[in-house]
Order: sequence, then C-alpha cells, then structure tokens
Amino acid sequence: MMKKLLLFVLDGLGDRPNPMLNGETPLQAAYRPNLNALVSSGLGGLMYPVRKGLVCGSDTSHLSLLGYDPEAVYTGRGPFEAMGLGIIAEPGDIAFRANFATRSREGIIVDRRAGRDIPESGSLSKKISFTMKGTQFIVREGVEHRAALVVRGKGLSPEISDSDPHEQGRPAMKVKPLSNDAEHTADILNEYLDRIRDILDTSPENMDRESRGKPPANELLLRGAGITPRLEPFNKRYGLNGACLAGIPLITGIGNLAGLHLLKHPGATGRVDTDYRGKVREAVRALDVHDFVLVNIKAPDIAGHDGDPLLKRDVIEKIDDAMGQVIGISDDTVICVTGDHSTPCTTKEHSGDPVPILFSGNGMRRNGVRHFDEVSCGYSGFDLLSGDVMTMMLQLSDKLEKYGA
Ligand code: ZN
Ligand code: ZN
Repeated sequence: MMKKLLLFVLDGLGDRPNPMLNGETPLQAAYRPNLNALVSSGLGGLMYPVRKGLVCGSDTSHLSLLGYDPEAVYTGRGPFEAMGLGIIAEPGDIAFRANFATRSREGIIVDRRAGRDIPESGSLSKKISFTMKGTQFIVREGVEHRAALVVRGKGLSPEISDSDPHEQGRPAMKVKPLSNDAEHTADILNEYLDRIRDILDTSPENMDRESRGKPPANELLLRGAGITPRLEPFNKRYGLNGACLAGIPLITGIGNLAGLHLLKHPGATGRVDTDYRGKVREAVRALDVHDFVLVNIKAPDIAGHDGDPLLKRDVIEKIDDAMGQVIGISDDTVICVTGDHSTPCTTKEHSGDPVPILFSGNGMRRNGVRHFDEVSCGYSGFDLLSGDVMTMMLQLSDKLEKYGA
C-alpha cells in the first residue's frame, strides 16, 4: 500500500516569548492535544525556511517546501505580488509591482501614492486591463495605492527598467531595455503607459476625485519586473499526483505553477474566520484521489502581523481541534505539520526564527518530543531546512530510491 503525504503549513506559525502570555509563545500557550499527540508518535524538530536565519516571505518558503530552490526560480517579487492579488500568472508572463500615483499637468509625479486612499482602484484597474497588438495587459488592485500589472504575450523580456522614478518631483521614467532582446518589451510598455495616461486622465473616477479635491490616480508607476518562472511539474519531479488547498491566492498561484491540482473549499477564506474543520476534512478527503496534499492555513500569520498573541493562540487552538481528524489516518499517511516562517506578535513582521515541525506516521521512529512548540521541538536537536521536507516525507513513506548501490 502506497503511503500518502499530507503537508500542513500553518502560515507564520513560529513566534517568540510574549509578555501577554507569561513569556510563552502563542503555540506554547495554546491547548493543543492533537498536535501533541501527533508529535509524540513521530519526530519533532525545528525547520529553517530556505536557509538558517533567513527572513522569508510565504512565497520563497512555500517554493522551498515543495522542493524548488527559490534562489534558482524566484525571479523577483512582481509575479508573486500579482499572484497574491489573484492574477493566476502563467510561466513567461512579465509582472510588475505597481502604484497608482498622481501626475501634474506638467507631467511631474507629485504624489507617488495618489493620496493612498483610492476606493476607485478596482474600477480603474479594469479600465486599464486590455489587449493591445496581441499583448495582454492585466492590472489588479491591491491595498491602498498598490496594484500589480501582468503582461502576457510573445517575445517578452523582464530585462527592462522601472517607470517608477522612486521619488516625487520628477516625471515618470520611460521604460528602457536593459538587454538587446528587451527592446520590444520596452516599446510596447511605453505605448501602453501612454495609452492608459489618456484613459486615466479622462476617467469619471478621476474627474470625480478632482472635483472633491482629492489627488487623481492618473499614473501607474511600474517597478521590479520579473518573469513568472516555469517550474518542473510536481508530478514529474516526484512521481506523485499532488493537490493544494489554500485560502490565499499567493499560495494557490504557487500551487498552480507547480502543477498541483487546486482544491476548492468554500469555507477556506484565508482569514481567521476560516472553516478550519471543513478545510482539514477536505484535505483528508482529497487523499482518496491524490498522493500528496499541501494545506496552507493563513490565520496564524494574520494574528502575528496584528501583534495579537491571544488571537494567535486562539486560532492555533481551532487548528488543533480540526487536526483531530488526521489522528486516525496516520496508518497509511505520512503527516507533516510546520510553518512557512515565524511571524512574532512582538515584531508584527516575519523573522528568521526557525519554526517547529513534526512528522507523524505508522512505523516511524520517535524522538521523544511530547509537545509541539518552538522550545520543546528545539530540545530534540533535530533540525532541517525547508528544502529537505519533501525528501523527509518521501523517505518516511518508503518512496525514495537508493542513493548508491
Ligand atoms: Zn507565510
Ligand atoms: Zn506574513
């Protein structure tokens, strides 16, 4: 019987001692009988995302967890920013991070953020998304003035300069080719930017903003061009039919690039009110038809960014409760639970602290860890890098071929 692989990534799980929790981490403070049972029946340790001490984003860490070397395939934030905003980027797409900005009549960028508050950014984004000369331009709005632009077409190169002057009081820059094969890309982008300046200048949204004394969002500043990487398909690399269940589009986008089957669960919201039990149930059910399932649960990261240790403890308790459903399936499944990075409530940002990891399954060795948390898992002395997780899971499921004779 082939063992199945189930990988839970609790986003931003790792934390630091918190004064509001008597010096414990949210994970230590949480009532977590199921996570403790899982680690007790297997291995507990610490995992460093990508490299020891590196402060990782969710994108680089998830790529690495799936066994892709981010240093080889991560070509800039643009494509991942776009995926995070819900554009399913395809390999070869050029993507930018973008800002709505305010340009004066003289063509000077007078506000790089167009006053930050742009409720019209969604409708403006739709108006400046179109196909021109066989090249498709897709804009998606983000928080406040932020947006992403994806350019899809033939013969495109990411080797072009920013249009963002990176400071106010100067005009937007012409996009310049930085290599010989990027001329077409620079030309078509400059033409696109000219075209959308007209559209933005004359849009009812901006007329209305101006009439209310608000700075018009009449310029789209582009920076950080990157090409969406082509990843070796997961099923080819591992011989496993894989699936991905995530509530946030960034992770769904990465799953899509890896060729994972994208599972949908209507209750998976990517927020703290997500349907934890339903999501775990859906993942377990997906193992009937898939060999590998990646589940991302975003909530701990959100609580970490909010600097709310009580909320983080509470969402971990909900996750633990939902995990009760996987206790019984470890006979024919290798289960791994970890985080993609730490998001300490004390700093409200990602940190380079390692995250706890557990492997659980029938017939596995145990290493004596009884509690699933940053400290208890550290005592075992077992540590690994995120890039080793797939190898570990394959080994524990007896799927690895022998290295040597
Ligand atoms: Zn993350
Ligand atoms: Zn985060």
